[in-house]
Amino acid sequence: MTGKGSPLINISDETTFFSFDPGLTPIAEVEQNVLVKIETKDCFSNQIASEEQLIMDIDFSRINPATGPIFIKGAKRGDALAVKIHKIDLKQQGAIVTIPEEGLLGDEVKEARTRVCDIGAEEIQFLNLSLPLKKMIGVIGVATPEKTATGTPGRHGGNMDATVITEGVTVYFPISYEGALFGLGDLHAVMGDGEVCVAACETPGYVTVEFESLNEFAPPWPCVEAKDWLYIIVSDEDINKAFYEATEVAVRALQNALKLDWHDAYMLSSMAMDLEICQLVDPRKTVRSKLPKSLISIEELLKSISA
Ligand code: CA
Ligand code: ZN
Repeated sequence: MTGKGSPLINISDETTFFSFDPGLTPIAEVEQNVLVKIETKDCFSNQIASEEQLIMDIDFSRINPATGPIFIKGAKRGDALAVKIHKIDLKQQGAIVTIPEEGLLGDEVKEARTRVCDIGAEEIQFLNLSLPLKKMIGVIGVATPEKTATGTPGRHGGNMDATVITEGVTVYFPISYEGALFGLGDLHAVMGDGEVCVAACETPGYVTVEFESLNEFAPPWPCVEAKDWLYIIVSDEDINKAFYEATEVAVRALQNALKLDWHDAYMLSSMAMDLEICQLVDPRKTVRSKLPKSLISIEELLKSISA
């Protein structure tokens, strides 16, 4: 996946959607292996411009917009959609909120508050503190038969809020419909794993991606290839079930790719696999299992876990 020299296709944030739904009409059709620059609104649909605006002052039906859906030519059911994240460009201002009863410590949240953060080239300003930029994509996915709200993560992707979905990685989704019907949004300038207060530095911006569909390699859950690591991203209402599933898939991958029996693969996972939290505050919680590429390649992973 190079996409080099090909013309850049621009898709504006004029049309967003709120459910990964196969019935939606695509806003654009794009070829594989070309660069596509997608403009995104923040998770509040850009309704918050100042600290005077609290969460109850905005139209809540427009929370978690994704730009799209985008139809990828030649992508078909049963394939994996590979989405290479070439670049994330943020706009100048982000916002973070508290919402009573929301987040990990929701019972302690006494007020709705908004903080606006200036975003620089290397860092953001929160109060008088500087935090280094850690750009990432919160919502990213493809159409699913479950017609899932963009605020809810699942096998199709969606609101996974995974800090590992950042510049340079490739994310793999199972395609359920012709064209995949892809969308993304909810960029964060910086977010901690867990996203404990329910929001992070929520920022509008642009994501430059390149699509490729891999024949019959639909993974059971979204997978990420980073420089040295592979991740399997699993979501469930019950975080213990999510950890179980993320482990089960990783053990199966090592078992098949390395031709081990299950017990050896289980022991290897206990030594070489990390379990990490993506977020704890969305309708389903999201976790990831992390495998070193020294043990297994993305091709071997997809081959050994696809149905
Ligand atoms: Ca999110
Ligand atoms: Zn967000």
